Amino acid sequence: MCPMTPSISAVPAGASLDWNAVAAETRTHLQRMIRINTVNPPGSELGLAKYLDETLTAEGIETHLFEPSPGRAAFVARLRGDGSRRPVIIMAHMDVVGVERAKWSVDPFAAEIKGGYLYGRGAIDDKGMLAANLETILLLKRHVVDTGGRLSRDVIFVANSDEEAGGEYGMGWLVANHRELIDAEFAVNEGGRTRIVKGKPLYVAVQNTEKVAHVVMVTARGPSGHASVPLEGNAVFRLGRALAAIGEHREPVKMTPMTRAFFGQLATVWPNDRERRAMADVASRDAARVNRGARVLVAIPVFDAVLRTGISATIVNGGIRANVIPTEATATLNIRTLPGQSIERAVARLRRAVKDSSVTLTITERGEDSPASDFSSPMFRAIAETVRDLAPRMVTVPYMSTGATDSARLRRLGMQAFGILPFPMNPDDEDRMHGNDERIPLASLDFGTRLIYGAIHRVTR
Ligand SMILES: [Zn+2]
Repeated sequence: MCPMTPSISAVPAGASLDWNAVAAETRTHLQRMIRINTVNPPGSELGLAKYLDETLTAEGIETHLFEPSPGRAAFVARLRGDGSRRPVIIMAHMDVVGVERAKWSVDPFAAEIKGGYLYGRGAIDDKGMLAANLETILLLKRHVVDTGGRLSRDVIFVANSDEEAGGEYGMGWLVANHRELIDAEFAVNEGGRTRIVKGKPLYVAVQNTEKVAHVVMVTARGPSGHASVPLEGNAVFRLGRALAAIGEHREPVKMTPMTRAFFGQLATVWPNDRERRAMADVASRDAARVNRGARVLVAIPVFDAVLRTGISATIVNGGIRANVIPTEATATLNIRTLPGQSIERAVARLRRAVKDSSVTLTITERGEDSPASDFSSPMFRAIAETVRDLAPRMVTVPYMSTGATDSARLRRLGMQAFGILPFPMNPDDEDRMHGNDERIPLASLDFGTRLIYGAIHRVTR
């Protein structure tokens, strides 16, 4: 038996359900959804939205299907509760990123099952969660509502388009046009991680806040001329020196209540002694220990990225001919600030690091901050308690994602949004997201379905 297959007796929420039948049904829905090609662009999510609409309508669930632009779709379904509490949203996006077909060992849209995995574009981002959400609302309808049970709040199922390309026809459209349909206290979205480390399912990271993305242009200027006469102040060399200085620069470590909780709890389960001590160190309130811990964690890029504002160089441009010294050379930096940190101050620190007045740094795109969701709220607790039931040795930790998600939009509207990826995965499987041979372990699909169902069942009691 796979070590992560939860034992049925450990699931009080829905203990009477036939979980084998549930797993088979979820798998079938996921296969059908992968076979509906929603590569964005162009997205063409309408076909998939119709599939959801038919499936839910057939079971007597209220649905709303919109076509924000031809072929695109916004889909909302609602299970009514008694209204004693405000609604909860479960959401997922229907579009997927493109494929390099030649690099796949299977047809990315055939949804083939092989060796305990279901393969296909979208299996983990984000059709797996869409299938688990779909199964959750179906189970709540059949086993709570239809049996005379009570839901203390409405459950709103949202399937949106265009997440992979900015959300203009997706969440952005829904918020602008049908705000009344997505008014809720809590939302559960993609954006977290459920990690298997060295073969052991270790932790569920629930995203409650995210870094803020900005774009900064670095421009170096100098005299132009024929390449046969080398000139002092050549813009390309200047840019090179500036980029080297930026590459060496590290933003200061900044601990927040969230990162303290994240590393503090991870330190209780982490397998490597040295790293475990470093996690306990950064979670302490002693500045010397924080610095000592951060020096160890810097070696793990995903952890270093939650400790400080991160700077990545992404594009370099300059010059027109092999024998002409250009007057200008530019580089694009993608900077992700910690929530609440100022991009201006980060850029001022970079200017000091560059130490060259003929190099300018300009903020060309500015991200918007959103308030963090409360990790002591009933929704977070419901997730953590369900994890404890399913896998008593795993811990649930709050988490700041380094990437941007639709949840930021919801948080700015005053909702408590939480990001999960409820499927336990080792790094190799997780790295296939947006890559080749994307796949979901079937046991993890099963675990994720139970996790979402269990958490939503708890928070609607
Ligand atoms: Zn996604």
